[in-house]
Amino acid sequence: MNILLTNDDGIQAAGIWRLAEALRPLGRVTVVAPERNQSGIGTAKSLHAPVPTREYQSPLEGVRAVSVGGTPADCVILATESLFSEPFDLVVSGINEGANLGLDIMSSGTVGGALQGYYRNIPSMAVSVTSLSNVQFDGAANAAKALAQALLAKGKAVPAPLLLNVNLPNVSRSLLQGIELTRLGPRADMRNVETEGESGHYRIMHNKPVGDQAEEGTDIWAIRNNNVSITPLNGLLTTAEGTTLSQALAHEVARALGMGK
Ligand code: MN
Repeated sequence: MNILLTNDDGIQAAGIWRLAEALRPLGRVTVVAPERNQSGIGTAKSLHAPVPTREYQSPLEGVRAVSVGGTPADCVILATESLFSEPFDLVVSGINEGANLGLDIMSSGTVGGALQGYYRNIPSMAVSVTSLSNVQFDGAANAAKALAQALLAKGKAVPAPLLLNVNLPNVSRSLLQGIELTRLGPRADMRNVETEGESGHYRIMHNKPVGDQAEEGTDIWAIRNNNVSITPLNGLLTTAEGTTLSQALAHEVARALGMGK
């Protein structure tokens, strides 16, 4: 079994190596990750310049590693199309330091990397711990291993494509309440700007956690209640909601373009 690991925190981040260590017993583990921290880069691809790759001195025996001067999406694209001849059976992105919940996944490099595996019909998952400090990786590493083991055991029986967004609260095992299969919870507090000292310079931050507004069944709710959150995603940002309005709008465009309907 061939497992590809990437992340957005960069190839030197602790989380990806904890993940590699956990998954190494399951098969051949290959790390292809960004040279530098790419958190918040989302699904971006480096379209405007050649992307450098370098062999990286892996701290784990038997684990291959390549660093990429680009984004998590670049890493998975290069790994699956160019760097290696054998196909990958699984893509795991993480373990990210920091939550990837609700609307924030739209700018998540962790999810951005996993998406490229999903687009290529490889079962893929993004794994995050919802804290930026004193991150406890054990639970996430064990969860990722269990998911990987179950998926690899199913082999061709996994209905492709599959994309999971997994988040764990940063608590010890004894405080974990359970596993929740969730949907993405929109975050209501969208104030992203923080001013910096220098005039005219601003800092754009992640969305801030919402007070008590997280709805039951959402990923945010699950985390807030100390559950592991597993959100099955699809890569299609389409919705049937608002169809009547959309039809009316399409009608206006048709009229403007003289198409009569
Ligand atoms: Mn990150």
